[in-house]
Amino acid sequence: MAKWRGAILLCTLLLTACTVETVQPKEQIQEEKNDENIVVTKDGKITFEIKNEIGVPQEKVEAIKDEIVTAYDHIKDSIHTSYTPSEHINVWFKEDGLSWGVASKIELTGVNEDIYPLVHEMTHSLLGYGNNFESDHGYFTQEGFASYMEEQYGKKEQFSFEKFMKHYLDSDKLIPISKLIDPNQDDVYFRPALSSEEQNRVLMEMSYTHAASFVKYLIDTYGLEKFEHIYNEKELAQKLEEVYGKSSSELEKDWLAFIQQQQGFTHEEKLKSGFFYDMNTILLQIDPKYFAKE
Ligand SMILES: [Zn+2]
Repeated sequence: MAKWRGAILLCTLLLTACTVETVQPKEQIQEEKNDENIVVTKDGKITFEIKNEIGVPQEKVEAIKDEIVTAYDHIKDSIHTSYTPSEHINVWFKEDGLSWGVASKIELTGVNEDIYPLVHEMTHSLLGYGNNFESDHGYFTQEGFASYMEEQYGKKEQFSFEKFMKHYLDSDKLIPISKLIDPNQDDVYFRPALSSEEQNRVLMEMSYTHAASFVKYLIDTYGLEKFEHIYNEKELAQKLEEVYGKSSSELEKDWLAFIQQQQGFTHEEKLKSGFFYDMNTILLQIDPKYFAKE
């Protein structure tokens, strides 16, 4: 699942009337209709089928088909996992809700607004997530890496993960990594169920940003190969120590020292962002226990 991207935007669908001049057999029409929504990866291994149920113009569908082929190559060139992806993956365009990606199905929202997290969800579907797309192996490396890949190869976000992290650090609103990788506590952060929907959205977004920034730091500092050994691993705290020779709290300390040196939001960025003050107001309302070290 990709983090929630701001408020749900209302969109106007362009409904184009079409005139069929010659009568074609039903099957032929069906086949042509399917063809234009199907894209096969260059290696021929996977077929993606677009289910455009919100009437996105074909021109945009074609552009997204190209993006799928390119994203597939980037993901295949990243880390290798033991997971064998589905040979056929349906990509549904949806009006609202959250985007997500499982074995043979991806749901994307924000297509009309150009904020759909295609690379993020494809990373889940192609590299695997838990045993069978469940949270039994946690969320941290899977969501962190999917967000990292989206940042590298997908739609460009307005602000970097580091900028958000610097803000959380300066505001004393850091979520301890030990909690984000704890199987008994991770649901609270990655799938929050507080009484306030707004607070759920912000806490979830923060968890994703922590994971993404930490994963990016690990990859930039120690390389993709080492990261490959911790991706989707069950005993993550133990695995981190094994692979990096440092405990998760030591790695967290190093990462935060790096964040400390980053540039936070400037006054102008806060004003122009269109979300900063709303986000921050909600952030300050969240019970501080979620940010406590123990
Ligand atoms: Zn995700």
